[in-house]
Amino acid sequence: MKAAVLHRYDEKLAGQEFVQYEDVPAPRIESPADVVVRIGGAGVCRTDLHIIEGIWREKSNVALPYIMGHENAGWVEAVGSEVDGIKVGDPVVCHPLVTSGHCLACRRGNDMHAVGSSFPGINANGGYAEYLKTSQRSLIKLPKTLAPKDVAPYTDAGLTAYRAAKKASRHLLPGQYVAVIGVGGLGHIGIQVLKALCAASIIAVDRSDVSLELAKQCGADHLIKADGNEVEAIKELTDGQGAEAVIDFVGEGDAVKKGLAATRNDGFYYIVGYGGRVEVPTLDMIASEKTIVGNLVGTYAELVELMALADRGRVNLRTKEYRLKDANQALLDLHHGKVRGRAVLVP
Ligand code: ZN
Repeated sequence: MKAAVLHRYDEKLAGQEFVQYEDVPAPRIESPADVVVRIGGAGVCRTDLHIIEGIWREKSNVALPYIMGHENAGWVEAVGSEVDGIKVGDPVVCHPLVTSGHCLACRRGNDMHAVGSSFPGINANGGYAEYLKTSQRSLIKLPKTLAPKDVAPYTDAGLTAYRAAKKASRHLLPGQYVAVIGVGGLGHIGIQVLKALCAASIIAVDRSDVSLELAKQCGADHLIKADGNEVEAIKELTDGQGAEAVIDFVGEGDAVKKGLAATRNDGFYYIVGYGGRVEVPTLDMIASEKTIVGNLVGTYAELVELMALADRGRVNLRTKEYRLKDANQALLDLHHGKVRGRAVLVP
């Protein structure tokens, strides 16, 4: 099969050719619960750029060459002997983790913390290819309204935004505020999910006017340009107190410090974007009683919930299509901030 293969790291992302489009052996069914999916679309994610930079090298322990692509959807191509309920030809979206179902975390539905799981595209071959091997437990059948290439980025980008927004929506009350920092990519999904799940006022914060316009279309109530005075602007909207929840889709540079500063005492600061550091004096932690919450993708059940929102048109994801052979162009465009919404590779 054809695949876009990562052969070497590029710590500064200085090159033009991050991956090589070439022939590789197609994955085969090896165990009874395996499923091979013919890729309809694979999302291109900032995490892929971080992988190329080598940030994930020690965490994922993956050996090069390998195939990136952790946001996958397509059609069932082949199934193992124990697979039932899913048949060849079914359109499916792939939960990004492959789990056994036997460990305690799996039994509690906590897929992200399953023991011995694999994460195709991160620590195993992923979907920048014509075919992907996953397992029956990871697949959700798509309704007729949703095409694989349109929903692929939901499996990570959308799901992570959903998980953070759902956590926030559980404590946000009408009359309260949630600030969403960084709204161009995952943030625009987060805003739509907040809109669907709770009645708090949504403040969108971004450097780009184009992204703020998108946030407005997605239902943000207040738009704040990140021009250096965004914390003051959030405080002004919230009686000088800050927002009850801040969801930070940036997580690097000064966003972290500002995000925490814009969080009201007793409020919640959700970290989704990453790359920066959280540094808070412990005295401030006890005095403010703020809660800092990490967010790692989401569970299978949460992906089912998100697909239900997408099926009803409550969440819409902007995508930009590229041919699989143009994977480098998609990665470069993402690197240079030229992708609105999410880039998707189509074989
Ligand atoms: Zn991703």
